[in-house]
Formats: sequence, C-alpha cells, structure tokens
Amino acid sequence: MTLFQRDISLKNYNTFQIDVTSRGFEKVESSSELDELIRDNPYDQLLVLGGGSNVLFTKDFQGLILQINKKGIKKVWENDKKIRLEIGAGENWHELVLWTLEENLGGLENLALIPGNVGAAPIQNIGAYGVEFDSVFHSCRVYDIANKKELELRKEECHLSYRNSIFKQQAKGMYVILSVQIELFKPPHPLNLEYGVIKSILNSSSPTIQEVAKTIISIRNEKLPDPKNIGNGGSFFKNPIVSDKQFNILQKQLPKLPHYIQSNGIKIPAAWLIEHLGFKGYRKGDAGVHHKQALVLVNLGNASGISILSLAKEIEEKVFSTFGISLEREVNVY
Ligand code: FAD
Ligand code: NAP
Repeated sequence: MTLFQRDISLKNYNTFQIDVTSRGFEKVESSSELDELIRDNPYDQLLVLGGGSNVLFTKDFQGLILQINKKGIKKVWENDKKIRLEIGAGENWHELVLWTLEENLGGLENLALIPGNVGAAPIQNIGAYGVEFDSVFHSCRVYDIANKKELELRKEECHLSYRNSIFKQQAKGMYVILSVQIELFKPPHPLNLEYGVIKSILNSSSPTIQEVAKTIISIRNEKLPDPKNIGNGGSFFKNPIVSDKQFNILQKQLPKLPHYIQSNGIKIPAAWLIEHLGFKGYRKGDAGVHHKQALVLVNLGNASGISILSLAKEIEEKVFSTFGISLEREVNVY
C-alpha cells in the first residue's frame, strides 16, 4: 500500500486560499510514484493539481489529490533559428519564463508572471497580452490513467483554442501531464506588440524580449492582486465571443462597448460588462470583486468557496438578464 498524507488542509495549495481538506494528498515527482498512487487510490475520486491558481474548492475533497512536482528543463533539439525544450510539469511557469529570458530565447515574454505550473499551461492554453501558449507548444508527455501508460500527444491532437483544449473537454480527467515540449526563438526574436496597452507603455518600437517582459510584469503588478496577499484565481470568467447579429443589438444598447474581431465572432471583455453593472469593488462578506479588475473575484479574508461561487452566480445572472450573455467560467470549480 503506497503511503500518502490524509485529511490535510488545502489552504496553501490553492491561490484562492480556501480552507477545505482533502482525504488524501501527495506530491509526485515521477511516473512510477504516480503508477503506485493511482493503483492504490482507495477513493473513487482523483484530482491532479499544479499550483492551484485556477481552481475554486467549494467543499472538502473526498478523494486523492496528486500535486505534480516533476522538474527539469532539457534542450531536445535546435537549429539556427529555434530551440525545443522539454520541461517537467512541476516547474513554476514564471520561473521558466525568467530562465528563457536569461538564455535570450523568445516566445514567452508576453506570458510573464502568470501563476501556476508548466503542466497546466496546455490545459486552458494560457494566454495574455496577445499571445497564447499554443504559439510555442510542440507536444506533451502524458500518463494515461485508464491504461496506466505514458504516451506522447502532439499539439494537433490537443486542440488548443481560446482558454480551452481537449484536457478541459473530451479528455477531461483522463491524463496527467508529465512534461511539455515548446519551441522558442533564438535572436532575432519575432515580437508581439499589438496588444494596445503594451505598445503605449513601451518607449521603443523594437524592444528586447527582456524589456517586453519587464513592461508586462509592471502592468500586471499594478493591476492584479498578488494571491499571496489577496486570495484569487485570476479571471473568473472567459471573455464571451458573440455573433455579429448579437453584437449589433448590444451595441445599440451600449454604444461604448469595447470589442475585438476574432475569426469565430466578436470578443467582448467580460470585465467591462461586469463593471458596467456596478460590481467592480463589490463585496459580499469576505467574497468580493477586485477593485482594479472586475473579472477577478477575490477572497478578502476567510471567504468560503461557496460564498465565492454564489457571488459568481449573482454576476452571471445579472449579466444574463441585462445583456442576454451567458458567462462561461474559466476557473475550475470543485
Ligand atoms: P491548477 O490550478 O493547479 O490546475 C488547473 C486545472 O488543470 C485543474 O483542473 C487541474 O486538475 C488541471 N491540472 C493541473 N496540472 C495538471 C497536470 N500536470 N496534468 C493534468 N491536469 C492538470 N491564466 C491565463 O491564461 N492567463 C493569465 O494571464 C492568467 N493570469 C492569472 C493571474 C492570477 C493572479 C491568477 C491567480 C491566475 C491567473 N491565470 C491566468 C490562471 C492560472 O494561472 C493558469 O490557468 C495556470 O495555468 C494554472 O496553473 P496551475 O498549475 O496553478 O493549475
Ligand atoms: P485589458 O488589457 O484590460 O483588456 C480587457 C480584455 O480585452 C482582455 O481580457 C483582452 O482579451 C481584451 N483585449 C484587450 N486588448 C486587446 C487586443 N488588442 N486584442 C484582442 N483582445 C484585446 O485586460 P487585463 O484584464 O488587464 O488583462 C491583460 C491580459 O492578461 C489579457 O490578455 C488577459 O487575458 C490576461 N490575464 C488573464 C488572466 C486569467 O486569469 N486568465 C488574469 C489576468 C490577466 P483576452 O483576455 O482574450 O486577452
């Protein structure tokens, strides 16, 4: 029987800082440990966790939680323009970004300061400031839970799209991501500076990747709550993408509505809708809406997961009854 910790508090394992317990918990560094723990799991439920920055726990977890801590950064291939790295799922994402900047490798600079671990990056195809993870993604090594074996999934098989992938859809709960391979650029680096706020803050039109990352880190530090001080899970909702027809109706009601044309419709910033309804800075007990970014729900003290979820539902209902838009949650609720 493989040993694991029992009835531990998850407060330090989720950035919302929700104080619930898990019946079983263990940190895992290798596939052989994973094999044994999954084989001997006495409970019906299993949850794989990274840094806990995209989860909301609403009750005690009645199963086994495995936190994937597999480390390592390995160069696996290169030519004169690009390099491919294999990175253990347990590496911290932002530390990886800092490492690539030191090595002068381009591709991750716009994704600086995103919390969490590398293994979770493909799950919701993390994105920020005009760049998404799929722009560097090559493949990932996964542990297939039902068949108890490791396999390689190519990028094309993972169907990454806006905050989405097979890991959130048809393959939900089927795989443990053990490592990912990404391809980065050697100099001269292609840059992504189209996202308005970056352009307006950067002084130079041809900045270095280190300058781009520095700018993004300073914007994020200014606008987003640090989970160490204020519990949160980043954006609670995805930005809705609506049809041209629905957008035209909305625009009549809201002439100043910001919008971004995408290949599959028109993206509307959910934060703008939520702020327009007066929720920015709103507080109900210890559950709140961040005063600088209305898409971020916060734990202002000892909020329960249920109280954060009930605030989310209140916002969802108001947005739907006012604008006819169903907000989709980005945070994984358990
Ligand atoms: P967790 O929260 O631990 O897990 C998330 C989901 O992935 C869970 O369903 C879990 O079961 C699953 N999972 C995790 N690891 C594995 C694995 N190895 N194998 C299989 N399944 C796994 N996201 C963005 O996209 N862009 C941002 O700019 C951004 N900014 C944020 C800012 C703040 C302040 C915070 C708190 C969050 C932000 N996020 C952002 C959300 C979050 O950081 C990302 O989704 C991140 O990738 C989650 O990583 P994690 O390791 O914490 O995952
Ligand atoms: P912002 O700059 O205030 O913009 C609001 C929204 O408008 C963003 O969510 C963004 O969509 C969209 N947007 C702005 N400029 C755009 C452009 N030029 N092209 C297309 N879409 C544009 O956003 P913010 O809240 O400060 O966040 C900045 C970036 O960090 C965003 O990319 C955001 O996704 C990311 N972020 C994500 C999380 C998370 O938890 N997921 C948390 C914090 C920040 P997109 O979100 O699609 O980019």
